[in-house]
Amino acid sequence: MPVSPDGGARFAKILADLYSDAAAHLIGLVSNRLAAGIDQRGWAEQKLSDTLRLRRDAQRFVATLGDEVDANLYDLLADAYSSGVLAAGGPGVAEAAPGIVAANRGAVQAYAAELAGTVKSTHTRMLRSAEDIYQRVIADVAGQVVTGVQTRREVAAKAVSRLAGAGVRGFTDRAGRNWELSSYVEMATRTTAGQAHVQGGLDRYTQTGRDLVIVSDAPEECEKCRPFEGRVLSLSGREPTAEEVKGHRYAGTLREARSRGFMHPNCRHALAGFTPGLTKPPARDTADPEGDKLRQEQRALERGVRDAKRKVAGAAPFGDTEELRAAQALVRLRQFKLRAFVGEHDRKRLPYRETLGAR
Ligand SMILES: [Zn+2]
Repeated sequence: MPVSPDGGARFAKILADLYSDAAAHLIGLVSNRLAAGIDQRGWAEQKLSDTLRLRRDAQRFVATLGDEVDANLYDLLADAYSSGVLAAGGPGVAEAAPGIVAANRGAVQAYAAELAGTVKSTHTRMLRSAEDIYQRVIADVAGQVVTGVQTRREVAAKAVSRLAGAGVRGFTDRAGRNWELSSYVEMATRTTAGQAHVQGGLDRYTQTGRDLVIVSDAPEECEKCRPFEGRVLSLSGREPTAEEVKGHRYAGTLREARSRGFMHPNCRHALAGFTPGLTKPPARDTADPEGDKLRQEQRALERGVRDAKRKVAGAAPFGDTEELRAAQALVRLRQFKLRAFVGEHDRKRLPYRETLGAR
């Protein structure tokens, strides 16, 4: 079985879910604090003077989140690495895998440390966002003439819901793109777990003496990788003889290909061991811009569902409000649209992309 950066995707779900839940939990924490005593006089003053308590709650929660990340990342990346070893296969791979993982513990640790640094770098902004929402809602409610208890609830629910729906933003990747919290975590995990997966596969190829690999022809392909589709690459840099690659085209070393963008994050191209005289060329010409467009449309619809779900989480602590009913209706509408889209285009639905916050 071939190895691909896409092999990191299923590991990304675990951390994206963790951070989705965390974002929703933080919104809930803010909303619950705001909703407490909302019927009472002097609510705004009381809430402002409680800001420190909110901060402490949020800090405690985020510290726990960080501990959870630290406790689990090595195992997660060891799994990703090991899945690459298994995917590369060869006789006795199941028995050999634990040994290869142990021998490369340092590499796995380095992936884990890098990823832990990236995902935990979001914590400061998460905390700031929680406190910011808390204070903006107080200001919003205090700044409006409210005529009764129900009205104050309505105004607060609306304000939290609006801010919650936008998510925690402002995370930028190396390409300068802006991400929402759990999409950012998902992207970072997918990237690093994908690297670990591929590295596991390459280490296995090397261990079994296979130096040549062949690039798959990915459906819905990425442009950067097209020049390498169906080509043979060398892991060590030893150039194969014409006889070895007969009927195939050699495109240099994997290292060179990577430096030209091949196997970028989210890449769905895969590497399989190449056996001279036995490996057949993969089918050609599969450029599929339509598929890429559909996938992006589906992601946008999934994002819409998650945004609406966060709005519900923000409004719910204020009881039965117009805002809560509107947010719940929005969730149903967007879920309906997503199901219709998936049904129409027969695309495999990825339930985890709809969970709170994940993007
Ligand atoms: Zn690619």
